[in-house]
Amino acid sequence: MKPNKKGPVTTVNVYCQQCKTQLFRYRKGGKGALVKCFKERISENFTLEPCVCPTCQMTFAREALIRGTPAYKLIGGKVFVR
Ligand SMILES: [Zn+2]
Repeated sequence: MKPNKKGPVTTVNVYCQQCKTQLFRYRKGGKGALVKCFKERISENFTLEPCVCPTCQMTFAREALIRGTPAYKLIGGKVFVR
C-alpha cells in the first residue's frame, strides 16, 4: 500500500458570516472545523485588505505566525465554510 503522508486535501470556500461574500478558496487538510488559514494554502483570495471583508468591512481574522508559517486566525462566528 502506498503511504499518504499528506492526507486528504479538500478545497473549501470561506464566506463572511455577515454579508455572505466569499473571502477565500482554501486548500484545507485534515478534518474538523476551520480555525486558521495558512496563507500558502489559500488558492484564491477575494479580500482587498488582509483580514477584512471587502463588502462589509468586518474584520474576520487576525494575522498570526503558526510554527513560523504566516497564517490567518479566524475569529469565531465571523465566517462560515462550505
Ligand atoms: Zn462581509
